[in-house]
Amino acid sequence: MQLDILIREDVFSYREELINDLSSIANLMKLRMIQAVLGSEGLSGLLLYDRKRALSHMIVNENDSDDNKIFTIGHEIGHFVLHKEELLNGKLCSFTERIGQLLSNNGDDALEKEADEFSEKIIQLLLAIYKRRSGTQ
Ligand SMILES: [Zn+2]
Repeated sequence: MQLDILIREDVFSYREELINDLSSIANLMKLRMIQAVLGSEGLSGLLLYDRKRALSHMIVNENDSDDNKIFTIGHEIGHFVLHKEELLNGKLCSFTERIGQLLSNNGDDALEKEADEFSEKIIQLLLAIYKRRSGTQ
């Protein structure tokens, strides 16, 4: 899933702020974000839980467009917030995302849809804050 067309234009004006703030939110939750070249074609991100060390990592494809990165970061935060239990209790150890076709390794489309919706909501919330701050709303 891609960003809603209605918020795409706003994202364009606030890309840097969105990437910074979404990264800070992930950091605050102790979800470590790493940008790396993901070789596999169309791969936009991964959410990994290292059970041995109890560490969570989000890997975002650094070759993706900023708009896709923003959506992917929001989506992975969504999994981390909404599906933490699945991650931590061993039902899942990772989510693997592809642009336009988000896949989870358990094939549960409902979880992917929830993470998509979370991403849109958190981006919309941040955009509303930026607009209010800049006096355009
Ligand atoms: Zn996902």
